[in-house]
Amino acid sequence: MSSNRRPLKSLGQNFLVDQNVIERIIQVADIRPDDAVLEIGPGRGALTDHLAQRAGRLVLIEFDHALAAYHRERHKDNPRVTVLDADVLKVDLAAILSEIPAQWNVVANLPYNISTEVLFRLLEVHDRLSRMTLMLQKEVGDRLAAPPDCSEYGVTTVLLGLWFDIRRSFIVHPGSFHPRPKIDSAVLTFIPLENPRAEVGSEEIFRSVVKASFSMRRKTLANCLKSAECTAGIGLETLLKACDIDGRRRGETLSLEEFARLSLWLSQHPSQNA
Ligand code: SAM
Repeated sequence: MSSNRRPLKSLGQNFLVDQNVIERIIQVADIRPDDAVLEIGPGRGALTDHLAQRAGRLVLIEFDHALAAYHRERHKDNPRVTVLDADVLKVDLAAILSEIPAQWNVVANLPYNISTEVLFRLLEVHDRLSRMTLMLQKEVGDRLAAPPDCSEYGVTTVLLGLWFDIRRSFIVHPGSFHPRPKIDSAVLTFIPLENPRAEVGSEEIFRSVVKASFSMRRKTLANCLKSAECTAGIGLETLLKACDIDGRRRGETLSLEEFARLSLWLSQHPSQNA
């Protein structure tokens, strides 16, 4: 069985072909012998054999049936490797991770078209993770590491920042892939925090506050929050005053801690935002 069929653009198949980059990713991933490793989108296996050699357990999720079959065949004699022929956006990730009682080390060169969605899926299972090493489009990586009040700072920065320390490890240029993508990529390391970076009360309310605050970039925070569901039935002035935040600021100038203050206050006053 071969993995050499023409790459599918629809599945974001830009395969890593640069041995130097492959080795650097494996080094950054810091796989330990008792690690359970999840690789999303193993593709032609640029990283996979290295992971299989180092990890205690390895689970692969690959949506391309031919490539999933290739890995199943290749690793059929290795009981430590499991291949799931599935869409990572449709599987029950929490259930898959709970089958092995370990903290998971996630490694992936993510397909560009679904990278942000995958990040939010992984955020949902942050408490099951020990580390993530992800290759993303450089632009998404820039957003994740951005400080407040710059154009890259946004919803992903704040929501992922609540539960992860995120570091950009290195940049990867298009020539390291086949076929070459049009843009640069970045490898990022995500270290899950034991406790959230700030107390937010309800995480659902936190997500709503953050999304509403970034919903209209040119408008003031007060204007963005006015029409948001999470503030329905409360006096905005009371909220902003209690949190010591000026409603004339734009949402993107708020730090994660300030979003957390808004969310905590709303969580603690449920009758008013029911
Ligand atoms: N890891 C390989 C490498 O570094 O060369 C391949 C990376 S390639 C950028 C992305 C991989 O994700 C492809 O193998 C593609 O088939 C797979 N993929 C795309 N969409 C997927 C999905 N929804 N669920 C699981 N895998 C997916």
